Amino acid sequence: MGHQMFNYDEELGEAVFAYCRERLSMDPVPLDFGSAFDIDDERIRELITRDGRDPVEVLEHFRHDLAPAVVSIDSPGFLAFIPNAPTKNSLLFDMVVACSGLNGTSWLESRGVVVAENQALSFLAERAGMPAGAGGAFVSGGSIGNLSSLTVARDVGRAKHPDLDPRSVRIAISADAHSSIGKALHVLDVEPLLVTTDDHRFTLGALEAALANDPHRENVVAVVATAGTTNAGIIDDLEGLGSYAREHDLWFHVDGAYGGAAIFSPTHAPLMSGIRHADSFIVDPHKWLFAPLDCCALVYRQPSLARKALAQQASYLDVLHEGDDDHYDWNPSDFGIQLSRRARGLPFWFSLATNGVAAYESAVERAITLAGLTETLINEADHLEMVRPSSLSVVLFRRRGWSPERYNEWSKWLLHEQIAFVTPTKWEGETVARLAFLHPNTTEEMVHQIVDSMRD
Ligand SMILES: *Cc1c(COP(=O)(O)O)cnc(C)c1O
Repeated sequence: MGHQMFNYDEELGEAVFAYCRERLSMDPVPLDFGSAFDIDDERIRELITRDGRDPVEVLEHFRHDLAPAVVSIDSPGFLAFIPNAPTKNSLLFDMVVACSGLNGTSWLESRGVVVAENQALSFLAERAGMPAGAGGAFVSGGSIGNLSSLTVARDVGRAKHPDLDPRSVRIAISADAHSSIGKALHVLDVEPLLVTTDDHRFTLGALEAALANDPHRENVVAVVATAGTTNAGIIDDLEGLGSYAREHDLWFHVDGAYGGAAIFSPTHAPLMSGIRHADSFIVDPHKWLFAPLDCCALVYRQPSLARKALAQQASYLDVLHEGDDDHYDWNPSDFGIQLSRRARGLPFWFSLATNGVAAYESAVERAITLAGLTETLINEADHLEMVRPSSLSVVLFRRRGWSPERYNEWSKWLLHEQIAFVTPTKWEGETVARLAFLHPNTTEEMVHQIVDSMRD
């Protein structure tokens, strides 16, 4: 019978499946309370014991004492940060991945995972206009996607410039690049060329001016553009920066963790066409492509360059690398920082395959449409004012006369009343309100309620 810990407990199985069925059928998913919910630490402390507790009882503890202390990121009322709105099919398939313990580390072990994931990656690369042969892996999120890409960018830049001190190579970024780009450069010990921009958009003009003023411009080996900044949804000049990078033999990385999903938007895909110049491109399916956390699609124009920089070498891993150069076995671990990897691309793959591309197009478009409607509503309200025009699905606006404390109180109140989860942000030093739309089931009524709640 084996060790009792590895026996299937039918009663617990039924209880967990019932819990999952209940969550999956909630419409809408309730917001719940996050850190505003008090947790009884005493009860939690009693849970881990020498002999183990009754599993159904612990599950009930979780349901009542811990689950409400998590704001449901998949609720249509979650409009803070960047929401996550997994399709039901993606959540269901995540259960398949979990229950099968699906591993996606190497071709040798997991060809069935890798083939499906690569189908999804190729689809995204093609939509983004990258050439056939582009590929990579699904990694844990945009931060690791950026770090992996910039590691390759740095190594390729160093190799191209044997004349330079390897520690001197730099990467051009704008001040509005995501914080994970700065963190990646910190980890890589690479100095940025920090480009100042007009109105927060990284343009070719801004890059050229920064390079012209820099005495060590020959050290710059890569350019990072953002396809949809997180705070404001701004799309950098992908076409200008990308073609410049191509002409000058610089690595071009496009961070589309949030906004890259607009390759599915019938109205906004043309603004994404400059991604076709990218040497590396990331988009997080766990953001605007409706997959569960945590999942980033990382695609390289020439995967062999990434493999050279990132494949782990160890004698026990040699069997994974026995292909020749033209016909390599495809190991996801060769393209990112991590080695062991759950099959995290499969829920996205399953959702795309079962819902179809057209459903993705209309769901992505819906968030942009709602941002536009919200902008109209704000422009018509006397107490409110747009900070800048909405971009992609992000709306930045101010309540005339409010202090930062007042925004915070309002944010807490909205969650307390279970109306929405909205957090203020800063724009040029000023505390302002921010709505990030993503869930297609967020309604205009919700927006009306939020706007009205700002009257007093
Ligand atoms: C969210 C985001 C990231 C970081 O992605 P994680 O998945 O949270 O690690 C990077 N860049 C941009 C533009 C983002 O919006």
